[in-house]
Amino acid sequence: MNYNIALLKGDGIGPEIVDSAVRVLEVIGKKYGHVFNFTPYLIGGCAIDATGEPLPKETVEGCLNSDSVLLGAVGGPKWDTLPGNMRPEKALLGIRSAMELFTNLRPAKLYPALKGDCPLREDIVANGFDIMIVRELTGGIYFGERGMREGKYGEEAYDTECYSRMEIERICKVAFETAMKRNKRLVSIDKANVLDSSRLWRKIVHEMAPMYPEVEVSDMLVDNAAMQLVRNPAQFDVIVTTNMFGDILSDEASQITGSIGMLPSASLGNTKRGLYEPIHGSAPDIAGKNIANPIATILSCAMMLLYSFDLVKESEAIVNAVNKVLDSGFRTADLAHGAPSLSTTEITDKIIENL
Ligand code: NAD
Repeated sequence: MNYNIALLKGDGIGPEIVDSAVRVLEVIGKKYGHVFNFTPYLIGGCAIDATGEPLPKETVEGCLNSDSVLLGAVGGPKWDTLPGNMRPEKALLGIRSAMELFTNLRPAKLYPALKGDCPLREDIVANGFDIMIVRELTGGIYFGERGMREGKYGEEAYDTECYSRMEIERICKVAFETAMKRNKRLVSIDKANVLDSSRLWRKIVHEMAPMYPEVEVSDMLVDNAAMQLVRNPAQFDVIVTTNMFGDILSDEASQITGSIGMLPSASLGNTKRGLYEPIHGSAPDIAGKNIANPIATILSCAMMLLYSFDLVKESEAIVNAVNKVLDSGFRTADLAHGAPSLSTTEITDKIIENL
């Protein structure tokens, strides 16, 4: 098969990690008989420098005409003083909304070889953990009615959490289907003891549950969930939650893996086309040194193969190769704790050797 992939390398370490991921995909293509065509587009600071705007029209069009999109990262000190709507990060919201990506999938997995990097006590993570957070991405309080006004005590500001049945049903469908492909356990996280929007969320989750009889569904209040994630992360398989709760919980979950350079993500809409990116930023402090960890971006490609192209074997080959490289003790500087480490290109070579 032929697949057209839009490449948004972005800023800082973006070009280095995306180049590594492209090398991996090219080898996968040769091994399994696929052709991946890559077309680069500008986004973020480099787009501002070249065109005056963080998300040029050609980039949006290129992404919409592709089969899928791979993004490195955007931003850096050079553009930090620009006004909000001209900042590189503005392009991220822009491209997600142009592609109508309402689902964010964020796995948080503790790799056995990296247990020592986890900030939690050894007995808590003795068996590792493997969580998939399904976060609603285009609704809720970040997009609700907002404003400033004069209130009883003077100046005040407000933001509104609002979810429609349609928005809840479509994200829960993704969550149930994701649970079906994994260990069939789904925890829906809300604040139904206080919020009406959460009560509607909870009601709809339970209306849908009979359609997925194999999935064991439970509810958890978000405050409890924040605690349970550090008390016993292994209890979770798939989590589904709102935009803001997902924003906060997915960062908490990523931190307990202890390795920001390892975590991929996928943003999906109603079509097979998705946006795949590492969860970390552009790491300007290490940009251009060939020492960034490319694994999060390489694993983002594994997610692309799985979710956009249904290439299960090929996706597993990447994940297994990463596991083998880590099990053999190879590390980039961020995971080496001062011990000898491999460069970005060297660890990519090792992953390719193990494909
Ligand atoms: P960051 O994630 O870029 O870096 C945080 C720390 O982690 C740094 O010490 C960095 O060197 C390290 N790090 C990150 N990724 C790494 C990797 N792959 N390998 C090794 N080390 C890695 O976060 P930050 O420093 O807060 O932000 C830097 C810039 O990135 C800012 O301009 C910010 O706005 C932007 N940002 C972009 C995105 C995105 O593009 N999706 C996300 C977050 C931050």
